[in-house]
Amino acid sequence: MKISVIGTGYVGLVTGACFAQMGNKVTCVDIDKQKIEKLKQNIIPIYEPGLEEIVIKNQSNGSLKFTSEIHAEIENSDVVFIAVGTPMGEDGSADLQYVLSVAESIGRYMQHYLVVVDKSTVPVGTADKVRDAINQQLEIRYADQASRPTFDMISNPEFLKEGMAINDFMRPDRVVIGADSERGLKIMHDLYTPFMKNHDRFISMDIKSAEMTKYTANAMLATKISFMNEISNICERVGADINKVRTGIGSDSRIGYSFIYPGCGYGGSCFPKDVQALAKTAKDFGYTPRILEAVEAVNYDQKKVIGNKVIKRFGEDLSGLTFAVWGLAFKPETDDMREASAITIINELTQRGANIKAYDPKAQHEAKAFYLKDNDNVSYANSKYDVLDDADAAILITEWQEFRSPDFDEVKKRLKQPIFFDGRNQFSSTRMQELGFEYIQIGV
Ligand code: NAD
Repeated sequence: MKISVIGTGYVGLVTGACFAQMGNKVTCVDIDKQKIEKLKQNIIPIYEPGLEEIVIKNQSNGSLKFTSEIHAEIENSDVVFIAVGTPMGEDGSADLQYVLSVAESIGRYMQHYLVVVDKSTVPVGTADKVRDAINQQLEIRYADQASRPTFDMISNPEFLKEGMAINDFMRPDRVVIGADSERGLKIMHDLYTPFMKNHDRFISMDIKSAEMTKYTANAMLATKISFMNEISNICERVGADINKVRTGIGSDSRIGYSFIYPGCGYGGSCFPKDVQALAKTAKDFGYTPRILEAVEAVNYDQKKVIGNKVIKRFGEDLSGLTFAVWGLAFKPETDDMREASAITIINELTQRGANIKAYDPKAQHEAKAFYLKDNDNVSYANSKYDVLDDADAAILITEWQEFRSPDFDEVKKRLKQPIFFDGRNQFSSTRMQELGFEYIQIGV
């Protein structure tokens, strides 16, 4: 099938590369010309394990192309995926300007029957808006309705996890398709069947339910995180240990172990904006979403917990102190720093006069170029040990694998004093105390 994917970010690039890998002819389109020029030279703008190999292979065999010219791609495709960003608007709603601008281009350039697939995360009712925007352009181009090319709208929310995106896409645990036509549904089924050879994991439904499914999945995961963080705050106050409570409840098969780790808050490009967008949708429809509002409020405060622990230990004025930070990305195995807890923690400490030395295996360029660009109190090191030199304490924020089993003798030797704040509860407090550390974690 001839596919075009509009928007070449984390989702669009992975989608395009994986469809090409399955033998489709794919063109990825982006308005960011610099990004497209780099991709043409096999320079991947994001860190995503396994992505580079697939892009290089499929670009060299002609299955995958990159362009910033949307015109020709819309004319030539059978299926168009919309995978542009839907950032949070000022009132918390999803900003649909990029999605609707792509819809307008589709209406302006399509020449024959198309399947238009919305893969961006969008509020319920967006497919209708996309359909209207396409139809408006078609009405301008073709006065006679009978001569207008037709299209089917599909909602195909994406569930990939950054850092595991290739595996998630190539071996999805489900493919959700919202459709209102048999023709569109069949084309989507044909497209995804190669990804589900051993058993079908295709879940079809109406378009609004598919749009709602994506928000519900993210809101549920965010709820689990905020719930555990709330319990960890209660544990601290009553003298219980969240690590023990976690294993105690995870062993209940109705609860399970996943997504119940306490920590310093969720970030990323999805959970914060999606929880707020769903809450905004609920309010627009006259319902007050009390759980969703609490999930977000708990998370907002949780990002401050580590900073508060540092202040409690070192005092309100942190001038003259240096803290070594392990991890900047919003989670391991990605360079994505959107809404990362590290931004809140670092800015809070530097506002109080502290200096920060940071190390992240992949996200340092993002921090320097965007997220901590204007913070002159932040410097960077090239290894997890170098960053500790002469620091007054270490702070673990992102639980990259390379931080899981460090040489603690080396850590101790490099730090001015053996004080370790752990925002992800990676180590045993007994062992850390035996090693001579003052070890401060979440919920203990
Ligand atoms: P991103 O910001 O990384 O990429 C979006 C891309 O779209 C950018 O490269 C931008 O230049 C391009 N773009 C914007 N307008 C365009 C236009 N008119 N024509 C062509 N290109 C255009 O975004 P992302 O993280 O890939 O997310 C895309 C969507 O997928 C969002 O709705 C997001 O919520 C959803 N999603 C993201 C993830 C994730 O893990 N990142 C997972 C599931 C779903």
